[in-house]
Amino acid sequence: MKKVHLDGYRKFKKEYFKDNKKLFDELALGQKPHSMIITCSDSRVSPVKILSGVPGELFIARNIGNIVPPYETTKGATQSAIEYAVNVLKVDSLIILGHSACGACAHLYHEKTEDEEHVELSHVDEWLTLAYPAKHNAILECIHNPEKNRAEITEKNNIQLSIQRLMTYPYVVEALENGSLEIHGWWYDIGTGDLESYDYSEKIFKKISI
Ligand SMILES: [Zn+2]
Repeated sequence: MKKVHLDGYRKFKKEYFKDNKKLFDELALGQKPHSMIITCSDSRVSPVKILSGVPGELFIARNIGNIVPPYETTKGATQSAIEYAVNVLKVDSLIILGHSACGACAHLYHEKTEDEEHVELSHVDEWLTLAYPAKHNAILECIHNPEKNRAEITEKNNIQLSIQRLMTYPYVVEALENGSLEIHGWWYDIGTGDLESYDYSEKIFKKISI
């Protein structure tokens, strides 16, 4: 084990775990998270930290680019997590959390250089084809508004795309319609710590005021 891992674990066990023993005694019996978060694997995005959460509150699914695959065409880990969160854990909120400087969204535009020819990225490339509509809409939007930040538009389109894809999951639609579930799209700015939330009526992302 590397020193960085051991030091971190020691600090957790001797400090946080010890100070919160009662919480962990409860968590040992089961989980009742209030929200599911689907976010990017990016190491800079920490939903528990951003929401000042504690273990047991957030059911988190991570993948490259916070992508929700369509319900019927691809089976996999993200779909399983959504199914479990909505049908078994019965979370009351489902949040797609995208972020600034997203490498996955940037990769959609990336053309391999000579040095990168031998880097195996076939699974990443295949996975990211699911986000192509976000890229295509961003290209269109930026042709008409060249002053716009294409990277940010792509990241935000990609969040909206994931929300739209959630609408292909019958049990998600049912939970939305009966009022037991809310769906939110958030974009997190790593440099400022700001969160923006997608406003369904105005169709734009708006900074969450605190
Ligand atoms: Zn990312």
